Amino acid sequence: MTELAFHNSATRQREIFAPIDPQHVRLYVCGPTVYDLAHLGNARPVVVFDVLARLLRRRFPRVTYVRNITDVDDKINARSQESGEPIAAITARTTADFHADMAALNCLPPDEEPRATGNIDRMITLIERLIANGHAYAADGHVLFAVNSYADYGRLSGRSTEEMLAGARIEVAPYKRDPGDFVLWKPSGDDLPGWDSPWGRGRPGWHIECSAMAWRYLGTDFDIHGGGHDLLFPHHENELAQSVCAFPGSRFARTWMHNGMVLVNGEKMSKSLGNFLTLRDLLANGPWAGEAFRLLLLKTHYRSAIDYTLDRLHEARGELDDFYALLTRGLPEPEEDDPLVAEMAEWALEPVADDLNTPLAVARLRDLRTLENVATVGGSATAVLSRVGRNWQPASGQAAAALRQAAGVLGLLSADPRTWRQGGADDGAAIEAAIAARLAARAARNWAEADRIRAELTAQGIVLEDGPSGTTWRRA
Ligand SMILES: [Zn+2]
Repeated sequence: MTELAFHNSATRQREIFAPIDPQHVRLYVCGPTVYDLAHLGNARPVVVFDVLARLLRRRFPRVTYVRNITDVDDKINARSQESGEPIAAITARTTADFHADMAALNCLPPDEEPRATGNIDRMITLIERLIANGHAYAADGHVLFAVNSYADYGRLSGRSTEEMLAGARIEVAPYKRDPGDFVLWKPSGDDLPGWDSPWGRGRPGWHIECSAMAWRYLGTDFDIHGGGHDLLFPHHENELAQSVCAFPGSRFARTWMHNGMVLVNGEKMSKSLGNFLTLRDLLANGPWAGEAFRLLLLKTHYRSAIDYTLDRLHEARGELDDFYALLTRGLPEPEEDDPLVAEMAEWALEPVADDLNTPLAVARLRDLRTLENVATVGGSATAVLSRVGRNWQPASGQAAAALRQAAGVLGLLSADPRTWRQGGADDGAAIEAAIAARLAARAARNWAEADRIRAELTAQGIVLEDGPSGTTWRRA
């Protein structure tokens, strides 16, 4: 197999991937702050790093993929104060919506999905270590990270001190020693969520949350840290500073991977421009829209910006229609360990191993479709075979089997082909995700949320049946 190589944002170079422990690859990706529905831009890191996790699982015996839920944040507090809805209800509902939306994009759940509020003790421990190591100080109920105490601050994002000050929406505050110092802990009044700490009742800053959760699940050193390019500074710069200063001698993540932004109709999404699209808006186009959006995303390299338009979504749907049409033909099924099938699937996936070149992998899926058409109905495969550089002569069914195998690693073509052709995607995964969210709400004794999810499913014609061995569902 070709070796894996990724572009490392920290070194600005393509590097051969060599995990710290080849028996156990560890990956951390920043998850959502749960106060509102996910928009198109929020979906991109989830899809990109879902492909990465699938690729790693194919190559290594064990992978731990951690993606957090930020459920304590000033944006959540502000939303609750505006709407009057309790914070716990906002975060539970938004988390369930996020899970359902990501399932509709064929994204598998991460191995661990810690919530910030479940890891406050770890954050306090990290902050205590930073104070003890001379990298943080308490002042006025706050604890701040002293950026001057860490010589490499700014190195990850490649920014000078002036650029960092300009980019970080610096809050000038009398308790700060340096305007660039950032908050690790801040005081909470009685009307805000708070936890007891050595510095009084308060709550964590956003950056320390990820450092604490990465440490808990992956240790002080791990392989890959991912997220959107907009998080590089200050969020990732600050995560790195906190973690290496709390654990002298550690290096935190070896490889940093950042995905590009999503534009809508050529412009940055914004509510005032009227081009702000949530995934719910997108999924309302039809049951095919989730997979079509996934394909649309994967047709652009993850580090480039993507321009979303409805035309491009329909174009991606048309391509999926062509693939599924092939798969409904009732082709012969080759043996499971057919060597030519394995060779063709591996060829299609080679580009994914090269810094997730999914656009080329998708082009190779099209080539496999051509090979299947030639094997089944005749025609010439010369153009494809010249790209491949091997003289494959697949029998009917072999190229289609390779196509399905390779597409699976991209999270594509997993719906039942006949259901797809009937105009409906297989929404079983989304329903399962909603059922899991309802069970979680019940376990947290959040009956209102559990009832809301049941009502939402009922409205979609899904009947839930709770039994002694769990919850099953059927269509009404
Ligand atoms: Zn983070």
